[in-house]
Amino acid sequence: MKPLGIYLHIPFCRSKCLYCDFCSLPARTDEMMGAYVERLCRDIAAKKEACREYTVQTVYFGGGTPTLLSASRLEAVLQTVFQTFAVEPGCEISAECNPATGGKELFSAMRAMGFNRLSIGLQSAHRDELRALGRTHDFGGFLQTWNQARAAGFDNLNVDVMFGIPHQTEKSFAETLEKLIPLAPEHLSAYALTLEEGTPLWRRRETLPLPGEEETAAMYLQMVNFLGANGLEQYEISNFARPGYQSRHNRKYWDMEEYLGFGVAAHSDFGGERFGNGRNVEAYLRGEEICVERSRPGAVERENEYVMLQMRLAEGLKQQAFFERFGHGSEAFFAKLKPWIGRGYVRKTAEGAAFTPKGFLVSNAILSEIVEFEG
Ligand code: SF4
Repeated sequence: MKPLGIYLHIPFCRSKCLYCDFCSLPARTDEMMGAYVERLCRDIAAKKEACREYTVQTVYFGGGTPTLLSASRLEAVLQTVFQTFAVEPGCEISAECNPATGGKELFSAMRAMGFNRLSIGLQSAHRDELRALGRTHDFGGFLQTWNQARAAGFDNLNVDVMFGIPHQTEKSFAETLEKLIPLAPEHLSAYALTLEEGTPLWRRRETLPLPGEEETAAMYLQMVNFLGANGLEQYEISNFARPGYQSRHNRKYWDMEEYLGFGVAAHSDFGGERFGNGRNVEAYLRGEEICVERSRPGAVERENEYVMLQMRLAEGLKQQAFFERFGHGSEAFFAKLKPWIGRGYVRKTAEGAAFTPKGFLVSNAILSEIVEFEG
């Protein structure tokens, strides 16, 4: 049996954050959510034949805010997954969640139906920073949701934070992280704010009180040290975990393993093909085909992408793993990485090479010299 990850996109949110470029709808009706779940279940069930030789190791409900769905709708989707695929015992079943959604009853029901991991979006512990992002919660609301998740039996929790956001300073970012340590998160994700074209924050980009580039870089480096000293080891450019708690689902993306995505804006890498759905929720609800891209990447593209994805990991690119996957050596890539070793950006590992935290800050620029894509 071949391993598989399942991604389920739930595109509903309480309100739209000012920086958000994800496929998420603030306007929703109960009827719309019901119809969405019905289509999602139909699409999942339709993959039964194609997945006979696969065993599902991870299921990830992303969004949007999956915890805006009722327990019965979440269960309908999860049951369809169980009925359609061979799901491995101990499968990681995660859902994204925002403060002030979910609640004790829903979390207990989710635990009972098989969810074993929640990812809660805090972003910042400071009210002015949250307001600038258009987030409607505060730290107290986050804490309540966190404690409810713990009380419901979730012993694998992620918290999302952001850095480089309006009003933020090195000190205020450090305070956000310090407030999280007593909660003993198993996992923490930290992303730098990017101003996506067309979002309200992007339109106000000239006047935003953003920290400077150097200050943002300092926040990142401080965070890596601080979290490491508190038991959360960096294992990917933006992700930190206690031993044994790396996100198994996200590792599938970085290890370039197969996954199937369902719902609007979901992507798949399956059977040698890549395909992705469009963002039109109305078309999806009308039952229309919404696959908007499909390709079969060639060997060169796969190798380059593999190098790029593996270099996101703190353990970096491994020569033996590359050889086992592609049947030839990775000397060409290592030759291009070599000049960066010893300059503080890339380090040699026992099995290959990896970015240092300082290297992660400029990894896009370095990787653009290392990898190339087929035209
Ligand atoms: S909660 Fe997340 S998905 Fe929803 S609007 Fe905010 S950033 Fe977007």
